[in-house]
Amino acid sequence: MKKLSLPRAVEIFEVGIRDGLQNESRRVSLDDKLVFARGLLAAGIRRFELGAFVRADLVPQMADTENLYEAVHQGELVLGKARAFALVPNIRGLERAIDSGAKGIAVFTAATESFAKRNIGMSISESLAVFKDVVAEAKRAKIEVRGYVSTAFGCPFEGKVSPSKPIKVVEKLIALGILEISIGDTIGVATPKGVTEVFTPLLRSAKKTRFAGHFHDTRGTALANALRSIELGVTILDASAGGLGGCPFAPGATGNLATEDLVYMLDGMGIKTGVNLERLAETSLAFSQKMVRPITSRYLQAFASGKVRNA
Ligand code: MG
Repeated sequence: MKKLSLPRAVEIFEVGIRDGLQNESRRVSLDDKLVFARGLLAAGIRRFELGAFVRADLVPQMADTENLYEAVHQGELVLGKARAFALVPNIRGLERAIDSGAKGIAVFTAATESFAKRNIGMSISESLAVFKDVVAEAKRAKIEVRGYVSTAFGCPFEGKVSPSKPIKVVEKLIALGILEISIGDTIGVATPKGVTEVFTPLLRSAKKTRFAGHFHDTRGTALANALRSIELGVTILDASAGGLGGCPFAPGATGNLATEDLVYMLDGMGIKTGVNLERLAETSLAFSQKMVRPITSRYLQAFASGKVRNA
C-alpha cells in the first residue's frame, strides 16, 4: 500500500459566521455575532468569514456586515493577527468592503451554469467578467482575495458534475490573479474518489495557488473528504463552528463540516491547527444554545452531554 503523506499543519478557515449563519432562518443579533467571533478568535481561529457585502433584502442575516467591521474599528472586536473576510459579489460590494476597511474578500461562482444563475444571478462567464474588475481593484487596495467554486462535485439542478467543470473555472480564477481558491461540495455529495479526481490535477498544475477544501456533511462524507484532500496536498480546510448552516437544497439536512469534528480528527492525528478544541467547543455550544438549534457537530454533541473530558 502506498504510504500516506500527511501535512504537519492544516489551516482551518472558519466560515460559521457567514456561510453558517446565512443558512440559518433565526436572525442573529449583532452582539451575539460579536460574542461568537470573540470566542472563535480566542480559540485560535486566524482567518474567518465575518460577513457579506450583498443586498440586505436578499440576505437579511448579512445586513449588519458594516456594523461588524465598525466593531472592529471601535476595538469591540479585536482581530490581532487574525484576518476577517467578507463575500463580495460585484464592484458595489467591493466599494462597501473598502469603505468598511475589510482586509480580505471572497468572490464566488460555481462549476455549473444552473447553480451560478440561481445563486448569483449570472452565468459563470458573466461572473468571471465581474470578478476581473473586483480582483484588480481589490489588489490596488491591498485586499486579500479568495475565490469560491461551488457545486464542484454535484449540483442540485444538474446532478453529478464532471471534474473538468470545476477545473476549468479554477483555471479562469487563477488567470484573474486569485491566489487562493476554495473548492466547494455545496450539496454534500462528494466521496473521496471525486475529491481525488478534482484535486489531483489542480494540485499538479497550479503549484502557486493555495487550494482549500470546503466540504459539506449532508451525507456523512465530509470528514472522509477532508482527510483525502489533505493526503493529496491540500493544507486549508473550510469548516463551520458547531456545524452551523443547513443545506438550502435539503431542508433539515446537515450542511457545513463542523469545525470541532475536523479539529478533533486532526488533533488525534498530530496535525497542528492552532485551534484549541475545548475553547472552540465551549464557544460553539454557548452559541448553539442561544440560537435554540439542534447541534449537528458530533464532537459538540458528545461535549454537550458531558461525556467528553479532554485529558
Ligand atoms: Mg458551505
